[in-house]
Amino acid sequence: MHIANVHGRAVLVTGEATGVDIANASKGRFGPAPADLYVAWDEFLAWAADGPTGPVVEFSPTELGPPSPTPSQIFAIGLNYRDHAEEAGFAIPERPTVFTKFASSLSGPDTEVVLPDGDVDWEVELVVVIGRMTRNAEISDAWRAVAGLTAGQDLSERRLQRSGPAPQFSLAKSHAGFGPTGPYLVTPDELDEPGDLEIGCSVNGEEVQKSRTSRLIFGIEELIVHLSAVTTLHPGDLIFTGTPSGVGAVRTPARYLTPGDELVSYVHGVGRLRQTFVAAGGRA
Ligand code: ZN
Repeated sequence: MHIANVHGRAVLVTGEATGVDIANASKGRFGPAPADLYVAWDEFLAWAADGPTGPVVEFSPTELGPPSPTPSQIFAIGLNYRDHAEEAGFAIPERPTVFTKFASSLSGPDTEVVLPDGDVDWEVELVVVIGRMTRNAEISDAWRAVAGLTAGQDLSERRLQRSGPAPQFSLAKSHAGFGPTGPYLVTPDELDEPGDLEIGCSVNGEEVQKSRTSRLIFGIEELIVHLSAVTTLHPGDLIFTGTPSGVGAVRTPARYLTPGDELVSYVHGVGRLRQTFVAAGGRA
């Protein structure tokens, strides 16, 4: 099942750019907002299994919002691919490095991003959307916490990130539009190997990152166990799982996004994001 956020309403995707409005099709039982589905996830899955029908909604990528636009928590994981930890000059972590992206940075999948002052870099990531309240998960049942997967970009302003005695991950990754997600929530049953997906991104058509999610140091189950040992995971919460090698900051010379650039990111089987960048105060 693929679920889209079309102008704030949850839509069950049935075609290339078409779907069924879930609140209308369920006569108000589920929705209208995407967040309303996650709090009743099991009931929703049972209802959706019957192949609901209703008037067709058409949408374009630029009309889509984040699959989970109002999470109570956003977790993000640093240095979670071995090759990225090495390129960034860090030791392979023994436990996950956790920070947050503030919720105001979230956006839909196809957007224009205003570049703030500084050095803005790309980080394609697989994003987990939580579907069931979860506390103290164990590896064997960790997938039960998951509603589905989506693609994400953890856009990062490196100058602010590196300022101060400790890294400023959370603020440096939370400018407006720095958390594109989408295009859809994809339920794990849609994927043959939900733990092994090709992931990558390109800038102006040039591939800059390419890996597989099976190379995560801490995979989805381990992250859910680790996070839920401290916090309660709530329906709609997001986990940005980390980025593979190929970010701009560690290149020689360093390479950052500039006005007019187009960044296309993908998680194979999950979907594609497209961001274009403009200068503050004017268009590229
Ligand atoms: Zn990241």
